[in-house]
Amino acid sequence: MEIREHVELRPHTVFKIGGRARYFCEARTLEDLRDAVHFAREKGLRFFLLGAGSNMLVSDRGFDGLAIKMGLAHCSINGARVEADAGVSMARLTAETIRAGLAGFEWAIGIPGTIGGSVRGNAGCYGTEMKDVLHSVSVFDSEADRIRIFSPRECNFGYRDSIFKKRPSWIVVSAIVHLEPGDPARSQKLVAEFSERRSRTQDIGSRCAGCMFKNVPWGAVDKSSLTKKIPELQKFSRDPVIPAAFLIDRLDLKGIKIRGVAISTRHANYFVNVDNSTAEDVMALVSLVKDRVRRSYGILLDEEVQFIA
Ligand SMILES: Cc1cc2nc3c(=O)[nH]c(=O)nc-3n(C[C@H](O)[C@H](O)[C@H](O)COP(=O)(O)OP(=O)(O)OC[C@H]3O[C@@H](n4cnc5c(N)ncnc54)[C@H](O)[C@@H]3O)c2cc1C
Repeated sequence: MEIREHVELRPHTVFKIGGRARYFCEARTLEDLRDAVHFAREKGLRFFLLGAGSNMLVSDRGFDGLAIKMGLAHCSINGARVEADAGVSMARLTAETIRAGLAGFEWAIGIPGTIGGSVRGNAGCYGTEMKDVLHSVSVFDSEADRIRIFSPRECNFGYRDSIFKKRPSWIVVSAIVHLEPGDPARSQKLVAEFSERRSRTQDIGSRCAGCMFKNVPWGAVDKSSLTKKIPELQKFSRDPVIPAAFLIDRLDLKGIKIRGVAISTRHANYFVNVDNSTAEDVMALVSLVKDRVRRSYGILLDEEVQFIA
């Protein structure tokens, strides 16, 4: 495996923002992954895993360590048991499971990430999350230098959260997904519906990182005083969260721009790199939105996008 120096990270992210990694490699096998971690350890470097780069913002100063691109991308299907390496894309797994006559992964079609990044962030949409379809997760514990198998319960999944966010030394290497036998024609119809819904409401194909902020769990706010202050919030009262997009949109912030980055005019929680944005531009817009939301609603938004520095 080749370890390269001073590699631009920008092309490896959907946002197309950020500086260089001091070192960069692509791990295509478990052996590569081990070697990469050993290399980092010997040099006293930090490392991070790069999936599809669809949920990250890389610092303009880059990353002074080793960026490991997840290149493990094998996928096998036996009956209803699907095993996918961490580097398999969500869209590919959707397509392959439908082709194999399985149902239950259609929702993932529009998530432009990998299995590894999606397990770590418990990615989800349209009412389903990774935790709902996982049977187990295989993890390289880079401190103990061994593979460990986690049940979904052991992954401590929560809303866009898992144990892996607290343990960066644990690298997701593969996952077993359990699906149901289905009807490919019905699954294709669902995929078409989900895709149509996304293209109507989101900036598909643009330079962004998905939702900038997590939605706000009702448990984190004083529900009765907030709904008294903002009666429109009643419509979300049966949902577990208040959409951050609603809170931002209500402050008329759609379309607002700081230098190269703008809040999407279609989806108020999408920040789009419209003109050679820097990470600094994005951070300035993040601060502005957080400040306005905090002052207007008393809510502190929490970033969903991972900052790499
Ligand atoms: C247009 C668009 C739409 C989106 N829609 C959704 C949506 O509907 N629902 C949703 O949940 N998300 C959505 N996202 C966000 C993103 O696609 C998901 O969070 C996705 O799961 C990230 O996967 P990734 O491979 O791109 O992760 P990356 O962005 O590469 O990495 C994210 C974080 O995970 C870490 N990581 C990556 N791989 C591994 C691994 N193998 N082991 C351990 N850590 C790892 C990285 O170090 C980083 O900290 C959207 C993004 C975009 C751009």
